[in-house]
This record gives sequence, C-alpha cells and structure tokens, in this order.
Amino acid sequence: MYPDVDLHIAGTWSAGSAGERLPVLNPATGETIGQLAVATREDLDRALAAAERGFAQWRRVPPIERSKILRRAADLLRERVEDIARLMTLEQGKPLAEARAETLVAAEVTDWFAEEGKRTYGRVIPARQDGVMQFVVREPIGPVACFTPWNFPINQAVRKIAAALCTGCSVILKGPEDTPASCAALVRAYRDAGVPGDALSLVFGDPAAISSYLIPHPVIRKISFTGSTVVGKQLAGLAGQHMKRVTMELGGHAPAIVFGDADVEKAVSVLAANKFRNAGQVCVAPTRFLVHESVFDRFVDGFVAAAEGLKVGDGLDPDTRMGPLIHGRRLEAMESLTADATAEGARLRTGGKRIGNRGNFFEPTIFTDVPLSARLMNEEPFGPVAAVQRFTDDEAALTEANRLPYGLAAYAYTRSAERAATVASRIESGMLGINHHGLAVPETPFGGVKDSGYGSEGGAEALEAYLVTKFVSQASA
Ligand code: NAD
Repeated sequence: MYPDVDLHIAGTWSAGSAGERLPVLNPATGETIGQLAVATREDLDRALAAAERGFAQWRRVPPIERSKILRRAADLLRERVEDIARLMTLEQGKPLAEARAETLVAAEVTDWFAEEGKRTYGRVIPARQDGVMQFVVREPIGPVACFTPWNFPINQAVRKIAAALCTGCSVILKGPEDTPASCAALVRAYRDAGVPGDALSLVFGDPAAISSYLIPHPVIRKISFTGSTVVGKQLAGLAGQHMKRVTMELGGHAPAIVFGDADVEKAVSVLAANKFRNAGQVCVAPTRFLVHESVFDRFVDGFVAAAEGLKVGDGLDPDTRMGPLIHGRRLEAMESLTADATAEGARLRTGGKRIGNRGNFFEPTIFTDVPLSARLMNEEPFGPVAAVQRFTDDEAALTEANRLPYGLAAYAYTRSAERAATVASRIESGMLGINHHGLAVPETPFGGVKDSGYGSEGGAEALEAYLVTKFVSQASA
C-alpha cells in the first residue's frame, strides 16, 4: 500500500548512510504507514558532489533535448496518476480528487517548463566600434537547493525542479518529511524520463540541519524555499551572508473583499471552495473576508451553509470534501486560534472544534465580527478557520486588506469596472483574483511581496530565478 521512502542520490535510491528512518503517519488515522530515510552529513556530501557533476553534464544537453525529457516526465506523471494520488492522500490527507488534480497539474507544469526552457534567449547589443559584437547570454545559475513543504507535496516541488532543470541547473531537493512518498514519485518520474541521476537528488531529514549545511556550501548557487515567513527569513538571512540567489514563497493571509455590488452567490461558492480546499492549508487561501454591510448577512448565511455542507473525513472516501490537517501541531494551532478569537469577543457562526479523537480532523469554522486584536486577524491560519468582517466604505476595506505585512494573494468581487481597477492598483499583493480564483496556472506568475517573499514560481518570470546574465564583447582578432 505505502512504500518505505528512500533518498535518491547520484542516481541510486537507498537508505541513508546511517540507516536511520522516521515514521510516516496517515493524518486521517494517526497510524504509522511507512518509514522514510534520513540523510546524514555524508549523504549530503554525496548529493553535493552529484549536483556538481550533474550540472556540468546537464547544462551541456541542448535545451531541445532537455525539453523532450521533461515532456516524457509529464507523460509518466499522467500515466501514474492513480498510484501517485493514492500515496498522496494516504500521507497528506487531502481528498483523492484533489490529489489526482495536483498530480495532473504537475504534469502540466512540467510540460509548460519543457517548452519555456527552449526560450531562454539572449540578445545582441549594437557596439560603439566597428568590428565589435556584443552578446548578452543567459546561462543556468548552477546547482540549486530546493526546500518544499507538505501541503502540496508534488506541486511545491515541481514548480522548482521543472524550472531549474529546464534551464540546465542541477537540483538537490529537500522534500517534505510528512509527505515523502508522493514527492519521491515525482522524482522517480523525472528520472525514468531520462533526467541524469546526478542532476536531481532527493533528501529528507532534519530540515534545519540540512538547510544550514547546504545553503552556505560553495557548490550551491541558488536557494528556493516554500514555507513559513519565520523560517523563510532565517534561510534568506543565511543565503544573504553567503551571497546566494534566493526565491522565497512564504505565508499569506489573503483578503477577499466582497463589495456591495458583487454577485454574492458566486463569491460565496468560489471563496468557500478555495477557503476549505486542502483543509485550508494553502498559502493563497482566502482567509480574511471583508464584506460590505449591504450584503453581509447574505454572504455569511451562504458561507456558513457551504461550510456545514462539507463532508469531512478520510480522503480515500469518495464522498469526502475536506480531509484532516497534516499533523497534531496544526490541530493545536486551530484550537488555539479559535480559543483566542472567542476570548477576544468574536462571534462563532459554525464549527470551532476538533472532530472525534482519531486523526487530525477540525470542523470548517467561521467567525464574524473578529476584533483586530485577535490572533486570527493577524496570523496566517493555515487551516479551516475563516474570519468575516463587515465594512461600510471601500477605503476602509482597502486599508484593512493592506494592513498586514503579508502580500501573497488577494481577491475581490464587484460588478463595477472602476472598483475592480481601484483594487488592482491599490492592493499590496503579488497576485489578485477578481470575480474568480484564477491563480496558480503554470504560465502566470506566482509569488508574493512584503513578508510573503520574493521571486516568482510561474510564468516566464520563474525562469529568471535560475538564470544568470553574461555579457560578452568580442572584437575581431
Ligand atoms: P514549520 O515551520 O515547522 O514547517 C514548514 C515547512 O518548512 C516544512 O516543510 C519544514 O520542513 C520546513 N522547514 C522548517 N524549518 C526549516 C529549516 N530551518 N530549514 C529548511 N526547511 C525548514 O511549520 P509546520 O507546522 O509544518 O507548518 C505550519 C506553517 O508553515 C504554516 O503556518 C504556514 O505558514 C507554513 N507553511 C507554508 C506553506 C506555503 O505554501 N507557503 C506550506 C507549508 C507550511
């Protein structure tokens, strides 16, 4: 049912050199379903040596050949979707339909980067002297260390490895310890498609020990991290000390503004679906709902009905619409946010507590009228807890939307072109969905501003992160 998960270093899958393993738990049952290998310093040194060799080899493969290999990887992901999705649901908890969709999107991401990697064009700049040619060449930056989390075990990783590999970089991926098997299946598909063993390593272990060794290491030229803002700041600081290029995809607390002229039913259905998808463990999930007083009651009634209509359970059950949280710490975080909001005087409209005592299930939870002093209005909930606030004038809604240091995603619902344009120009976020969700397709930029990080993991911008610029000025001999 669930395999033990090995490290992949220098083309070989194996247990770590010390043979240490950690348990993998099913978050729907709390049971141990398998074991994952833990990398030692010696394993990391082998991965670093492989990344150095792999870069020298892979960068010389013509982009069109790299593209064919990546396209094969995409095909393999599509062929293996049922097996991979099952592993993902077992270890991560999300409903099987979401796990299938994630695997198929990973194939799409791979296809897209396979094509875009062919277009890392340079340019020729007219020279000031006769007989001189001036070239701008785009080269792969070098071996990359990627750190990816458990909420989208495949998609957080594929955005990094596809972008790195399509430009000719080699990769050491530190995968998610909570959800290692589906991430390993992604690496296996890439290897089976023809990515050289030295060009893509996969390690697991103590995240802090691995990142503090890899980031300063001279072989590593670039860091890409997805996770919390707190950890991202530590890693970016370390990377800065060693002059390493960084992409940071960090936390958010996305405002969703529903204006008085919005299509309220549409806003309820799209926002509720995206709030509770993956049990709310999504960095771009709408989390602070700012609703005009004229439509407030209609919105809240619809939102509460949507939350109460969600079937929460084991993701393997085809009727399940929301699975468990990833681990006990998330469950405790939801209990603590809920207790704090209640103590601060917020009004609980639905949910608010753990479901049963087996697995990490928490009720879809909605608060209204939450004081700004409550933690829920300031900390990323990263779980199925939402805060709905009422506003009377547009200016106040925009001020609240921009109040926090986060700036990842934002959403707005309005029938007014003028309001839509105002939000688009005033909102402080890396991404904005107006009247629909519309984010996170491979061809569009994906990233934040302010404390949500920097760099992009989608669109042509995503390739920039893995390229350096070389200027060559050549006169005739
Ligand atoms: P956590 O901070 O312990 O871990 C989050 C992720 O960061 C994990 O993948 C972990 O392996 C990694 N990590 C932690 N310390 C690290 C280090 N020193 N070096 C390298 N990697 C490190 O938190 P958690 O309880 O697992 O998750 C909760 C929080 O994490 C949430 O509040 C959310 O903000 C954040 N998170 C964000 C995303 C995202 O998509 N941006 C995904 C998962 C978790």
